[in-house]
Amino acid sequence: MGKKALNMTYLSSKIGAAFIGFLLVIALAPAWNPAFGKTIYLESDFNHFKLDNQLEYVEDADGSLELSGIMGNTDLPWRPSDKSGLSFGYTRSVYWIRFEIKNWSIADMHLLLEIANPLLDSVTAYELQGGKLKQKFELGADKVFSYRPVQHTHFLIPLEMVPGERQLIILRVASTASMSIPIHLWSAAAFQEKDQKESLLMGIVFGTLFIIGAYHFMLFLSLRENTFFTYAVFVFSILFGLASINGYLFHFLWPEQTAWTNKGILLGFGTGIFFSCFFTRGILLTKEHRPFLDKGLKYLAYASVFAAIVGLFTPYAFAIKLLMFLSVLTSGWIIISQVYRMADGYGAAKYTFFAGIFFTIGLLIGIMEKNGVISSSIISLNSASIGSVMMCIFNAFALSHRMNKDRDLRIQAEHESAETHKRLLLTQIELNVELDQRVRKRTLELEKANAQLQEISIRDALTQLYNRRYFDEIFAKEYKRAFRETKPISVLVLDLDHFKKVNDTYGHPFGDTCLIETGKWIRDSMKRPQDMAARYGGEEFVVLLPETSLPGAVNMAEQIIRTFNESSIEDQENKVTITVSIGVASCIPGDRDDHQELLKLADECLYRAKQNGRNRLESAMIGSTKDSPGTPYGDM
Ligand code: GH3
Ligand code: MG
Ligand code: MG
Repeated sequence: MGKKALNMTYLSSKIGAAFIGFLLVIALAPAWNPAFGKTIYLESDFNHFKLDNQLEYVEDADGSLELSGIMGNTDLPWRPSDKSGLSFGYTRSVYWIRFEIKNWSIADMHLLLEIANPLLDSVTAYELQGGKLKQKFELGADKVFSYRPVQHTHFLIPLEMVPGERQLIILRVASTASMSIPIHLWSAAAFQEKDQKESLLMGIVFGTLFIIGAYHFMLFLSLRENTFFTYAVFVFSILFGLASINGYLFHFLWPEQTAWTNKGILLGFGTGIFFSCFFTRGILLTKEHRPFLDKGLKYLAYASVFAAIVGLFTPYAFAIKLLMFLSVLTSGWIIISQVYRMADGYGAAKYTFFAGIFFTIGLLIGIMEKNGVISSSIISLNSASIGSVMMCIFNAFALSHRMNKDRDLRIQAEHESAETHKRLLLTQIELNVELDQRVRKRTLELEKANAQLQEISIRDALTQLYNRRYFDEIFAKEYKRAFRETKPISVLVLDLDHFKKVNDTYGHPFGDTCLIETGKWIRDSMKRPQDMAARYGGEEFVVLLPETSLPGAVNMAEQIIRTFNESSIEDQENKVTITVSIGVASCIPGDRDDHQELLKLADECLYRAKQNGRNRLESAMIGSTKDSPGTPYGDM
């Protein structure tokens, strides 16, 4: 620092030992001339000083002092700054700062005095030489950007010094923003080098934030998931806030609008708190799991936006304090929420917690740098910005963790629903199979019952021969077929002889037994599958013989009469022989619907058989002019 002895080359080559001793006394006495503040000696290898405890300041409570007053009054209560530099919080007072620099090298020096707080409203720099004003610069956030001697976001004052030159620098600072006055003295070359690095760092910080914000906004657009939106806006508000605080918005977006920077900071601050609350709610799912914490976050969010809007119309110092108070409250509430959700075993909470820790570490490093606990470096000077980026990155992790969890849950739910669906389907199939089997069984039963019904409907209940209705139906069909195929067809009409007497003699039940027995005899006489016998009524039967001509039919009738004569019917008490008379008629149909004619002819033959003494047959053929001769049983 400036208290060091001058360098050895200069010493040995140019100046005598006594003079050196004298100068050493000067160099080692920082308060060499109290009237002109502390002197900073700049050697030829000078690059950078952070001016903290080399300064003196005086408070001008009502802002009434002028430069002449500062220079003329030796009784002003100048006070030395300490290691934490100059920081007076929010104040209405004006601060005057002074220090002296001396070019202690043999070359011209191109220096830059940097006041690294772009939010200071008014900074006036007086460069005095030998008690005379050499230059005056007016800078500050309340002056349009083009006023600045160097177009830079920070306040820069160029100082040119020839070898041995001594300058007194007096600064007058007034601000509604926090009165933090970090002052750096740079060689122009060192500043350029630092500035390049800082620009790169800021490019990375803003680029990263911009990409994170834009990426999540795109995600929101494509996925329509609100948390992405709140997160994107949260990141953008941090970007906006950092850009405001670092003076970039004023520099690049509205260099003419001096009033906007403070408003920008208030809005950035307010929306930042608002969206960090909403993002925290979305990421931690507080609404579902911690309703009380959720309510707190919601109210803090609304309060911050309200405060930011109110802040636009109230003094900046008040508004920013209100928002700072809210931000401290919100940070506390968010940390409590994170801790609770971590205790719940919710994974994403861990990442947001770490995000908060990074942010806090960034802030702490910044504070430590300001207070001289750690040295100034690109990193420590911008640690809050770096902390913000780290916070955003970790919050992005938290978000993706939550989305992953969501996706897992969704997949699980889909899987479960698919399983349920499958089980349902299986049950349904089983039910269907059972139902099908039951229907099939039922159908079979019905078909069987139907067949039985059908059978019953075509059978005679007593003899189990076909009934008259069915005979008529089949007879009509067979007659038509015979007509189509010009084939002979025959019918037999049978009537038991003197059956009334059987009934009268042995009783009706025995008569029934006789009907059953004789029915069997007639059925057993059938030879071909298409032959059919039916009970035509009472003790009358009919036999249909398709494709049978008269001789064949007569033959069958004779066979039946013979069976009757050779058989008898008996029960416990009785034994009876019954005879039968048969009318036989045959034809090759000449008309498809004339079947009744054939039956009538057979009936006439039966009548003749009865007339001719019973137990015999009479036959006739349609188309023949003469009836065939009948056959009594004895001639068969
Ligand atoms: P024929 O035919 O030889 O002239 O004398 P028949 O005694 O058989 O006279 P007819 O044909 O007129 O008599 C029919 C009798 O048959 C009347 C009735 O007693 C008897 N019969 C009719 N249907 C049944 C029946 O279902 N069961 C019984 N047991 N008898 C019946
Ligand atoms: Mg009869
Ligand atoms: Mg009879």
